[in-house]
Amino acid sequence: MGIQENLTDLLQQLPSGVKLVAVSKTKPVEIIKEALQTGHSIFGENKVQELIAKQEQLPVEIEWHYIGHLQRNKVKFIAPFVALIHAVDSIKLLGEINKQAIKNNRIIDCLLQFHIAEESTKFGLDFDEAIELIESEAYKSFNNVRITGVMGMATYTDRTEQVRNEFRRLKDYFDQLKKIYFSDTVYFKEISMGMSDDYQIAIEEGSTLIRVGTRIFGER
Ligand SMILES: *Cc1c(COP(=O)(O)O)cnc(C)c1O
Repeated sequence: MGIQENLTDLLQQLPSGVKLVAVSKTKPVEIIKEALQTGHSIFGENKVQELIAKQEQLPVEIEWHYIGHLQRNKVKFIAPFVALIHAVDSIKLLGEINKQAIKNNRIIDCLLQFHIAEESTKFGLDFDEAIELIESEAYKSFNNVRITGVMGMATYTDRTEQVRNEFRRLKDYFDQLKKIYFSDTVYFKEISMGMSDDYQIAIEEGSTLIRVGTRIFGER
């Protein structure tokens, strides 16, 4: 199947309330243009240089999500246009995003990334660290960022019960944060979980945003 068919096929499977971030990393702009013809407009990248190069060449209507690990010194390059930063895992990073958002006269939406996988290489907060971040004086002074939910990556394994448990943990973190800190905050609603190999499980466990690359664009 072609890219457009892959994309429309995937979109048709999604229950209402679940959005797709089409992960276009490593794929050229021509391929993204092809995908755009389906009408889909949410794309995800995980490298700053690559994202800004593509953003310049593609229609401004695209909603760009930054899904990778973000270095503080690179926030300024994406702050003018990024729609959602998925992987915030420190107060310092959030502070820099706030600073660059002010410079651009914007409010930038962010997700807190949680460490849910068993691999130690993956970035992310644990629950106590998230609480510490949210309760910090610094965070309370950040008027130009909004935490709109949580994000996580499951262990890369074919043991589906483990993957399911990890997604369940992320959903539980979301529910707890919602209850304690964000019960009146309508925009705190996103659970970014699920990739090509595990998005079905993620949706069953409450994902609202899946990030899928390979299944749409092929192997990288
Ligand atoms: C690459 C990537 C994805 C997409 O992975 P696929 O397996 O190609 O669907 C999702 N999330 C993050 C953070 C990624 O880096």
